[in-house]
Amino acid sequence: MQTTISKQFRWEMGHRLPFHTGLCKNLHGHSYEAHVILTGEPDDHGMVMDYFDMKLLIQNKIDELDHCFLCDTSDTIVRAFLETHSMKTVIVDFPTTAENIARMLLEHVVSQLPVAHRVSDVRVRVYETEKTYAEVGRTL
Ligand SMILES: [Zn+2]
Repeated sequence: MQTTISKQFRWEMGHRLPFHTGLCKNLHGHSYEAHVILTGEPDDHGMVMDYFDMKLLIQNKIDELDHCFLCDTSDTIVRAFLETHSMKTVIVDFPTTAENIARMLLEHVVSQLPVAHRVSDVRVRVYETEKTYAEVGRTL
């Protein structure tokens, strides 16, 4: 029977949306939460994937993002500041919306799946606040 499992991850991160006409254009941060959601056929032990192994799919990326400023490469104002100071920064080539962060994490999770796995569908849900999230998915 197709079964879905999920594991949650949390990190703190700064960002801004330069294109935004409201408050999101300002430097600010969130306590982000990501849910990695895997669907597949459980093995003979009843496991789609060991939760410990799920952590390995994404924890290094979470550690990279934790307490960084996630900066869109086109945000030249903030980039210039960050590059002249020794602050933890991750430069990406997309606007740092929850939607795009979810897509980045999804691509990372898919790339980290072991050669042999039982997963047929991967979803990543990113909560920017406790009330708002973006979710992306891919059927393998
Ligand atoms: Zn924000």
